[in-house]
Amino acid sequence: MINKTKIVATMGPASTPPDILEAMIIAGVNICRINFSHGSYEDAKSAITTIRNINKKLQMHVGILADLQGPKLRIGEVLNNAINLLVDKEIIITTNKCIGDETRIYITYPQFPKDVAVGDNVLIDDGKILLKVLSTNRTDEVRAKVIYGGTLSSKKGVNLPNTKISLPCLTEKDLQDLDFALENEVEWIGLSFVRSVTDIVDLKEIIKKRNKRARVIAKIEKPEAIGEIDNIIDMSDGIMVARGDLGVELPMEQVPMIQKMLVNKCINASKPVIIATQMMESMISNFSPTRAEVNDVANAVMDGADAVMLSGETSVGKYPVKVIENMKKIVAEVENLGAIYYREHPPVLKTQTFISDSICFNACLVAKQAGASAIVSMTNSGYTAFKISSHRPKANIYIFTDNESLLTSLSLVWGVKGFYYNRYESTDQTISDIKDLLKAGGYVKTDELVINIASIPMHERGRTNMLKLSYIS
Ligand code: PEP
Repeated sequence: MINKTKIVATMGPASTPPDILEAMIIAGVNICRINFSHGSYEDAKSAITTIRNINKKLQMHVGILADLQGPKLRIGEVLNNAINLLVDKEIIITTNKCIGDETRIYITYPQFPKDVAVGDNVLIDDGKILLKVLSTNRTDEVRAKVIYGGTLSSKKGVNLPNTKISLPCLTEKDLQDLDFALENEVEWIGLSFVRSVTDIVDLKEIIKKRNKRARVIAKIEKPEAIGEIDNIIDMSDGIMVARGDLGVELPMEQVPMIQKMLVNKCINASKPVIIATQMMESMISNFSPTRAEVNDVANAVMDGADAVMLSGETSVGKYPVKVIENMKKIVAEVENLGAIYYREHPPVLKTQTFISDSICFNACLVAKQAGASAIVSMTNSGYTAFKISSHRPKANIYIFTDNESLLTSLSLVWGVKGFYYNRYESTDQTISDIKDLLKAGGYVKTDELVINIASIPMHERGRTNMLKLSYIS
C-alpha cells in the first residue's frame, strides 16, 4: 500500500542505527531530515551513508532534507544546568559570555541590546518562560522582569516576537552546514526563520554557484514571513509549516488557520508543503499517541499537506518504528475515506508553461471522470510530477525518469511514486514498455484505464504536450 501523504522523520540517536532506520523506512518513511541544530558532521555523514545504503538494498528512493538552523537565538550555559526563574524577579540578559544564574543569563545575539525595545517580550524554551524588557543600555545588557517563570536549563531557544532581528538569515554556521549538505548531494535544503523572499534568493544563488540542484524549503515560523508569503512560496521549491516556533512568534491560536491557508496556497502554486512539530509528541516516551495527536495528523492529511513530519519522536524517542507505523495507519485511514482528493486548479492562459500545465490539469480531470487507475508521466526536470500532484488526483501518480536525484527529491511530493527509466525510444514503444513494467510490478492490472502524458517527439525531451488514454492489456 502506498500512502499519498508522505512521512518525514528527523534523524538522531534513536533512528540512525541501520537496523532501526531500515525498519522505519519499511514502515513508511519517505524523507529523512537531518537537523543541523543538533549533532556533528560525523553523525550527519553516517546517517546519509546509512540512508543511501538502505536505498540501494531495498531499491527505494528515500530523500534527505538538510535543515539549516538559521538565526536561532539561544541562551548560554546555566549553573548546574538548571536555574529557577521566579515570577516578578529582575534578571540581566547580557551579550558577554558567562555561566548563567538567577540574576544574569547570556544570549547568543550580539545586537540584542540595540534591537530590543522597552516592553518587548522575551520568550525562552518554546515560550515556557516569559520575560518583559524593562531597560537596555544599548551595548551589552538588557534588564528584564520575569512574567512567567520556571526552571531553565542550558542553551534553550529564545524567541523575540516583537523585535526586528538584525541578524542575517544565513549565519556562518549555516554556510558551513550548507557546504557540507551540498558536498553530500542532499536533495532538499530547509532554511529556518525565513523573514523575506531575499533569504531564499540568497540561498538559491549559493546553490547555483556551486553547480548543485538541491531544492529549497522555506520554514515558515516568523510573522514577517507570513506578511511576504506569496513571494516566498513563489521563490521556494516548497515550504514547512514550522509550528513549534510559529506558535511562539505568533499567538498560538492563529496557527491552525495559518496551516490551512499555507497548504491551500502551496497546492495552488504546485509546491510541496510539510506540516511539522509535535504531531505525535507524546510518543517520545509513550508507545501510542494521544487522541488529540491522532486528530492533528488526520487534519493535516485532510488539509492536503504533502507530508507530515516527526521531530523528537524519531530523533530521540523510545519508539521510532512504532511512531511511523502509527502515523502511516492514520494517514491511510483518512486517504481511504476519500475526502482529500480532487483539488484541481485550472492552468493560467498565455503563460510559458500553459501547454504542459493544461495537459497535467486535463489528465487529472479525465482520470476523475473515467476512474483511471494511474496517471503516468516521463520527466527530466520533475515539473509534471509537481503539477499533477498539485491537483491531488485519486489515480496513482507514476513518474519515470533517468534523473536519479530527481527520484529521491520526488519522495516528498504528495502521491508521487518514482521509477528509474532510461530506455527512451519512440513514444509508442516507451509508453507500451512502461505499461508492461507497471503491470509486471503489480502497480496496474489488466483492463484498468491509464493515462500517459509525455512530450512528443520524445527524443527532443521538450515540455509535456501529449495525453493518451489506454487500457492495460
Ligand atoms: C519548528 O519550530 O516547528 C521547527 C520545525 O523548527 P526546528 O525543529 O528546526 O526548531
